[in-house]
Amino acid sequence: MKKNKSLAIIIMIVNAILITAPLIILILGPRQEGRVVILDVSVGLGFIGLAMMTFQFMNTARIKPLNAPFGTDLVYHYHRQIGIAAFLLVFAHPILLFILDIRYLRLLNIFTAPWRARFGFTSVLLLIGVVLGAEYRPTLKIPYKFWKFWHGVMATFMIAAAVTHIFLVGNYVNLPWKQVLWIGYSALLVGMLIYTRIIYPLRLINRSFLVKETKKEAGNVFTLTMVPDGHPGFRFKPGQFAWLTAWKTPFSDTEHPFSLASSAEREDSIQMSIKNLGPFTQRIQSLKAGERVYVDGPYGSFNLDRHPEAERLVMIPGGIGVTPIMSMLRTMADRGDKRPILLFYCNREWETVTFKEEIKELEQKLDMKTIYTIEKPPEIWDGESGFLNRDIFNSHTPADWISAGTGVFLCGPAPMMNAVERELLAVGYTHQEIHSEKYSFA
Ligand SMILES: Cc1cc2nc3c(=O)[nH]c(=O)nc-3n(C[C@H](O)[C@H](O)[C@H](O)COP(=O)(O)OP(=O)(O)OC[C@H]3O[C@@H](n4cnc5c(N)ncnc54)[C@H](O)[C@@H]3O)c2cc1C
Repeated sequence: MKKNKSLAIIIMIVNAILITAPLIILILGPRQEGRVVILDVSVGLGFIGLAMMTFQFMNTARIKPLNAPFGTDLVYHYHRQIGIAAFLLVFAHPILLFILDIRYLRLLNIFTAPWRARFGFTSVLLLIGVVLGAEYRPTLKIPYKFWKFWHGVMATFMIAAAVTHIFLVGNYVNLPWKQVLWIGYSALLVGMLIYTRIIYPLRLINRSFLVKETKKEAGNVFTLTMVPDGHPGFRFKPGQFAWLTAWKTPFSDTEHPFSLASSAEREDSIQMSIKNLGPFTQRIQSLKAGERVYVDGPYGSFNLDRHPEAERLVMIPGGIGVTPIMSMLRTMADRGDKRPILLFYCNREWETVTFKEEIKELEQKLDMKTIYTIEKPPEIWDGESGFLNRDIFNSHTPADWISAGTGVFLCGPAPMMNAVERELLAVGYTHQEIHSEKYSFA
């Protein structure tokens, strides 16, 4: 934990230095005689925005040491927020110019404008595409695969156009060391692209897995058991996830994230339990024994081993969010971990609850009590119904469980998680005790 914290601080400091470096070289001058301050401010904002954008490629490049201290969830959240901040900063650059002198508006005419302005304009247009596309993809119902491809393409060309704009303007790269900075940033970007598109996929190809079994579970879920082909595989912590590529090679950039559902103590194989929800997941059932797949992992900070201080555990899965929780329970059973567990398992219907038979078996091996909360219960039902709320929670939870020694693990669809988190805070837990994983990054 301590090591993770120090690494996180170092990464944040380096990130801050790299983002502000262009501004520092701007301040260090030399300043052109007679230039108004607002012009430099405008350029400074653009520089910081661009530097922020450039380093977004590193954040999402799945470099494990860079992601591990924060967790993938947080990295993608940061990616989203920083994208919006960078967008506002870059956008402020031309706006300030127009405020300074209305004649700058003429530069928007791409037919008559000089090339430096054309590149600047193109870069801002692409940036608008990148940010609005990410913000409104779900509302506009843009298919994820299509969006992901164009998000990457637009971001790359946006940065290339912006750097070209800086060099054509020339004022701020008038000394060799300033040129080195921007060339360095561009080289880093190209390096990241080579790493993520060529080197990393090559490594995955050499460490492929073979499907051992595809098993149907309740709730339109299929469990995929995979074994490493000619390599030792990887170890993971209960609750972590991995990226799965099937039917294509890792060069195709079509991987999907799934929790590792099996016990972390199992060395021979790994399992993912996948709910049929869309174009990729609906094909999982067709995977046959012996088919080759690629698994890139493990990732994520949502895991049991990260919180050894928890003396008792409250686990709250919603629907298919049960998969990382199953990994935690299976691992605890294999380890003979006897910490007391309250499992609040939320589902829409009783018939489609996944793993209920196995949960019954696990209750014999673990010190665990399960409370099912069913949104639309069957006619004969004596369990909890509706949504999990503070009353249901309190009626099953001893008062001394609402304390720092309890670890709460929450995973499910975003609306359920937001609602349950509110209830947990209302009953007295703090954010320190609640650990969660959202099943959507984008
Ligand atoms: C950390 C994590 C763990 C997950 N674990 C499980 C699990 O154990 N079992 C399970 O059934 N589902 C899990 N999911 C959800 C699963 O990744 C999506 O349901 C799946 O990718 C949908 O793909 P699709 O083509 O079938 O559906 P689509 O209709 O294409 O996608 C539905 C939604 O899933 C998300 N999504 C789609 N493709 C990707 C992708 N390549 N990368 C990231 N998000 C994507 C998007 O938000 C999209 O809107 C997990 C998601 C995350 C983020």
